[in-house]
Parts: sequence; C-alpha cells; structure tokens
Amino acid sequence: MKKNIAVLPGDGIGPEVAKGAVEILGAIGERYGHKFTFRYGQIGGSAIDRHGNPLPDETLALCRQSDAILLGAVGGPKWDQNPPEYRPEQGLLKIRKELNLYANMRPINYYASLLESSPLKKEIIEETDFLIVRELTGGLYFGKPSERTYRDGMEAAVDTLYYEREEVKRIMKLAFELASTRNQKVTSVDKANVLESSRMWREVAEEVAKDYPEVTLEHMLVDNAAMQLIKNPRQFDTIVTENMFGDILSDEASVLTGSLGMLPSASLSESGLHLYEPIHGSAPDIAGRNKANPIAMILSSASMLRHSFGLEEEADTVEQAVRSILDSGRRTADLAGSGIPYSTSEMVEAIKEEI
Ligand code: ATP
Ligand code: MG
Repeated sequence: MKKNIAVLPGDGIGPEVAKGAVEILGAIGERYGHKFTFRYGQIGGSAIDRHGNPLPDETLALCRQSDAILLGAVGGPKWDQNPPEYRPEQGLLKIRKELNLYANMRPINYYASLLESSPLKKEIIEETDFLIVRELTGGLYFGKPSERTYRDGMEAAVDTLYYEREEVKRIMKLAFELASTRNQKVTSVDKANVLESSRMWREVAEEVAKDYPEVTLEHMLVDNAAMQLIKNPRQFDTIVTENMFGDILSDEASVLTGSLGMLPSASLSESGLHLYEPIHGSAPDIAGRNKANPIAMILSSASMLRHSFGLEEEADTVEQAVRSILDSGRRTADLAGSGIPYSTSEMVEAIKEEI
C-alpha cells in the first residue's frame, strides 16, 4: 500500500514525539511492505515565526493532498502575549474548521503495567476501557461573539456556546455508531439544568437513540461526569460531549492511564481526510530535552493505520509493541516514578525493535 502522510510537528515537544511516530510508521512500512511518504508542514508558533501565520496556506494545501495528517502539538510561552490571531492555538482551531474535523475520538484504556503510575486505586481503574467522543468544530470554542466588550459602561468579556441542531446530530450519530461496535452504551454529557444549548443537545440525543434500539442512552451532567470518571470509570463505554466539556474531561481521564503522554486521539471529518494527534499539548516545561513520552503520538499513528488506511493488523502490532515495552518495565520520565527513565529516543527505539 502507498500512502502520503502530512506531518505537522508544531511546537515544544511536538517535533520530538512526531519524529518518533514517523520512525515507528517507517518500521511498520518495512515489516509489512507499505510505502509511506512523509511530507512536512508548519503549524502553530513555528509557522508564525516563519510565515507570520499559524496556519499557512501551503500547510493546508499539503494536508489536502495527503491521505492522512499527523500533528504533534502547538503553542508555548514565546507566543502567549501575541494578539489573538497570531497565537499558535489559532492554527489548530483553523485546521479543524477548514478540514471540517468535527469529531475527536479519545480512547481511554487501562494498562495493567501502569497501575502504579496512577494516583487512583487498582480496584477503581482496573479494566477501564471507554471512548470520549468530543465535538470539535462548534460549541464554546467557536461561537461568536468572543470578545472584550462594554456593557452598561462596564468592561466585560463574552464567549458564546452556539450549536446548530445538525451539528449535534452529526456527532451524536457518530457516537451511536461507535457505541454499537463497542459495549452498546452512550453517555451523553451536558449541563441541561442550566444551558439551553444542552437542552437541545439532550433532545437530539433522544431522537438519534431511536435509530439505535440496541444502544442504551443515558444523560449525565458534566459536573457529575467529572466526579464519576474518578469514582467509577468502568461504568462508561462511549461518552459524547460538547467541545469544551470534552477537552476538560479527557485531560481528567488521562489520570486513569497514568499520564497525558499516553493518550492518542483521532479527529475525523466527513471527507475521509482525518487528523491524528496526541491529546497532550506542547509541554514547554520539558521541550527540547528528549524527555517527553512519545507513546500518545505513536498510538495516534496506530489509530491512523486503522481508521484511515484500514490496516488493522499493522495497528495491532504497534499497540502490542507499546504494551510489551511497558510490561517489560520501560518508562519515560512522566511514568518512571523513582525508577531510571528512558529518554524519548530510547523509548522509540525500544518500540521499534519490538516491531
Ligand atoms: P494545551 O493547552 O495545549 O492542551 P496543556 O496546558 O494541557 O496544553 P500540556 O502541554 O499537555 O499542557 O502539558 C501538561 C503537563 O503534562 C505538563 O507538565 C507536561 O510536561 C506534561 N506532559 C504533557 N505531555 C507529555 C508527554 N508526552 N510526556 C511527558 N509529559 C507530558
Ligand atoms: Mg489541555
């Protein structure tokens, strides 16, 4: 199989972990006889520095000519004081919007060998396996107006939580589709006791549920969901939620796995051009020190093999290699506790050898 992959390393630890994922894909290509061609583009702060734009046109064009996109991470303190349109995060929001990447899938899996890295008790997190489906192109992060303003002579600020019914329907359908291939349960997370947008969200969930009689639907308020994730994570199968709620809940859920550095994600579009990125950010505190955990990025590339290329066995091979390396006790600094940590490149090398 021949595939073109757009690689957008971004900022901070982005380039370090993206390099790891590219090496792993190279090893998979070699083992199974696929030709993956990697073409690189700029996004985020590094794109602002070079092109004065967090998402240059050539990056978008490169993505549109590719079969799938791998993205590292964007952002960092260097650009924090920039005016809003020159912030790295704008590049991320814009690529999601431009490529219509409306659904972010974040699987949360339990790793037996990482039990000691979680602050939670074994009895609670054992066998945890659920999927967060986060709406990605609407909601509070995109609603207009979003600005500083004056009201009644008072300085104020406003953001807008806006959803069209069809946007909710689209993400809801995907969640039910995914749930029907899993354990047939959808937990729709909202704040329907306070927010009108959530009341519409709930209505749509009920409506879509009628087409999936085999899937159970439950509603949960987001504050309760935040608590239940820590108290009893095993109750979840497929969680579907609004953009910002999903952002927060998935960072929270990363604690179950031991580290943000473990969690992959896939952002899906209707066109079939999907984007794969770790859920963590650019981690400026550890950037450039060969210290970052590359596993979230490597698992994201496994997800790409499966969801964009249909390479099920190849994806399993990557995931298995990660599991056996962890089982054998090798850890990057975020997971090492008092043990001697592996560097990013040592971790990548170990996984590559396993493949
Ligand atoms: P963003 O705003 O982009 O979501 P964030 O504020 O959530 O970013 P991250 O950059 O994800 O922050 O980092 C949060 C913490 O987790 C930092 O202390 C960082 O060092 C750590 N961290 C994140 N990713 C990794 C990784 N791959 N390996 C090790 N540590 C990580
Ligand atoms: Mg974050």
